[in-house]
Amino acid sequence: MIVSSDEEAIVILAKKIHGQLAGKIAEILRKRGEVTDDELAEQLGVNINTVRKILNQMFESRLVKYRRARDEKIGWYKYFWRLTDEPAHQLLEDRKRKTIRILERRLRQEEATEYFYCPKCGRKYTLDEADMYGYMCPHCEEVLEPYDNEKDILILRKTIERLQQYNPLSMPQSTTDFTSPRENVDGGE
Ligand SMILES: [Zn+2]
Repeated sequence: MIVSSDEEAIVILAKKIHGQLAGKIAEILRKRGEVTDDELAEQLGVNINTVRKILNQMFESRLVKYRRARDEKIGWYKYFWRLTDEPAHQLLEDRKRKTIRILERRLRQEEATEYFYCPKCGRKYTLDEADMYGYMCPHCEEVLEPYDNEKDILILRKTIERLQQYNPLSMPQSTTDFTSPRENVDGGE
C-alpha cells in the first residue's frame, strides 16, 4: 500500500507541476507500468510530439524514467516510459531545496545592491546600470530615483522561511493530501 500511495503522490505531483495532460500520462503509467510514447499518444488522443514534450519535462523533474529498445522491424528506437521509483518525499525535498537556493541567491543580490527606478515607467535598475545610463531612464529619459527594496527583501525572507517549514508529506498517511484525490481518480471517468 505504501508503494501505491507513493505512486499516487507522483501522479499528483505530475499534474501540479506540469499540468492536466502530465497528470493523465502519469495515471496511465501508474496503471499500466511501462508504456511507449506512441501508445500514450494514441490512448490520450493527443499529438505524439506533445506527449514527448511533456514526457521530457516530467523526466527533467525526475517523475518518470525510460528504457530504450531497438525495434528490429522498423529499425528505430522505442522508448518505454514508467513512473519513477524514487520516493515522492525525496523529490519534493529536492525541489524545495533547489527553490530555496534560488531565492537565497536572489535575496543576497537584493541585499547587496542599491536600486534605482524610473518614476514614469516603473523600470528597476541596479546602481551599475543607473550609473551607466547617467541616472536617466533610457526608455523615457526620466531622471531615476533611488528605489527602496526593503519590502522586496522582506517578502523574499518570508517566502524562504515558509518554504523551509513546508512539508506536505509530513502529515499522517490517513489525512495526507495524497489519499483523498484517489476517489476522484476512481470515480471520475
Ligand atoms: Zn522609464
